[in-house]
Amino acid sequence: MLVVMQNHASPEQIDEVLRAIRELNLTPHPLPGATRTAIGITGNTSAIDSRSLEVLSGVSECIRVTKPFKLASREMHAADTVVTLPQTSIGPGTLTMIAGPCSVETEELMLRTAEFMMANGVKLMRAGAFKPRTSPYSYQGAGLEGLKILERARAKTGIGIVTELMDTDNADAVEAASDIIQIGTRNMQNFSLLKRVGKMKKPVLLKRGMSATLEEWLMAAEYVMAGGNYNVILCERGIRSFSDHSRNTLDLSVIPPAKKLSHLPIMVDPSHGVGKREFVPAMALASLAAGADGLLIEVHPDPDHAASDGAQTLSFEGFKKLLESLKRLAEPLGRRLN
Ligand code: PEP
Ligand code: MN
Repeated sequence: MLVVMQNHASPEQIDEVLRAIRELNLTPHPLPGATRTAIGITGNTSAIDSRSLEVLSGVSECIRVTKPFKLASREMHAADTVVTLPQTSIGPGTLTMIAGPCSVETEELMLRTAEFMMANGVKLMRAGAFKPRTSPYSYQGAGLEGLKILERARAKTGIGIVTELMDTDNADAVEAASDIIQIGTRNMQNFSLLKRVGKMKKPVLLKRGMSATLEEWLMAAEYVMAGGNYNVILCERGIRSFSDHSRNTLDLSVIPPAKKLSHLPIMVDPSHGVGKREFVPAMALASLAAGADGLLIEVHPDPDHAASDGAQTLSFEGFKKLLESLKRLAEPLGRRLN
């Protein structure tokens, strides 16, 4: 349910409504807007009589939200969400680039990559310190030492860090080291992990589960938001299908319905989507055309010797060429690369 306050409702009137909602054993989520505040209500709202809230002073109306995802839905929050970071912001009118190697590698390599990104206007670097690998014998990531490397690269260059949290054990360390916390495809329905990041202050990049429907994906976002963390960025990274020509099937057709149903920004990871570096640029451009708010791209100075996912990773030169093409396409679409 959504309680819409009158245009000039006072802070005291808003507080009174928040108190009344808590007294019903429900959770209020204040959603300040340009002209007026709305208050989302989560919990079991089916039994409550909306008239008990409508009579409170400063309340304009109560609206039932019909979708199973509430805080993530446009019914509750009509305007596009803008996620503000120290380095940049993610949302309408822009195309935010996040790029870097699959895994954190040596300090020298990470610093070189961060400097290259900043010199080319890319303000967010990706790299996993904890890697979810299909085989237990594959490289598992540099772990806590990898987080330290990322923190030092950030301190030296000012670049923002996007890195994956795989389990609740490392939650504090990953939160401290990152500007955006990535939840990987395999963890999209790890509900204890979602609840944990819901309590964090840093934005969450929520990858779509490789077999998740749009509704399941938005319900996963809802878990994070229900905990009080409203800064969720969706990321399409390819789903499982019968294709034998690509690692996954990059489902760009999910973008328009996701945008219709939800106000959350949506990014695309074409690297994991296609799995082969020669096909990444075409799908990156297609993602921009389809309405993505940003791209997550694997880039490495020497991709053939990357610790993981080298086959889908662009070289510095390949990435620079892609940036030029994206800039050319962004302009007629009224978008700016950041
Ligand atoms: C990654 O971004 O390196 C990664 C492991 O992604 P996904 O969870 O999409 O496989
Ligand atoms: Mn990878």
